[in-house]
Amino acid sequence: MIVSKIKTEVESFTLDHTLVKAPYVRLIAREKGQKGDVISNFDLRLCQPNQTAIPTAGLHTIEHLLAGLLRDRMSGVIDCSPFGCRTGFHLITWGEPSTTEVAQALKSSLEAIANEIEWSDVPGTDKYSCGNYRDHSLFSAKEWCQDILAQGISDDPFKRHVI
Ligand SMILES: [Zn+2]
Repeated sequence: MIVSKIKTEVESFTLDHTLVKAPYVRLIAREKGQKGDVISNFDLRLCQPNQTAIPTAGLHTIEHLLAGLLRDRMSGVIDCSPFGCRTGFHLITWGEPSTTEVAQALKSSLEAIANEIEWSDVPGTDKYSCGNYRDHSLFSAKEWCQDILAQGISDDPFKRHVI
């Protein structure tokens, strides 16, 4: 028997990434704090795992834009951060929004990036407000958002239920 040096099993690593059908929104977990508040953790998967991944500059710009766009479209957003594999984002929220609500907010945000956002709208693009401000691409962000939207965003990770 192999004993892992890491004791905690993390849900994301138990998901069979060959079974999912991106783009999708998946509820990873809901957790209740000691005072009863609930937080939800979502998998916003924009690219099919192990087939495509968003290059860093485009992903970085999408990250900066989703920070505001998602908060404009749904309440309770705590954090939205990219996966190291560059196929999507974690979204942490207060409360219990449904995957459909999150998918709608995500879709609307990606539509804004693809169609409305200009470079002057991108927050955090200088050395004072970003840790790697040279590594941005709104062009890449727009192209990837268009491709993702063309495939449709499902509120179910295992069967295509495009919202
Ligand atoms: Zn940054």
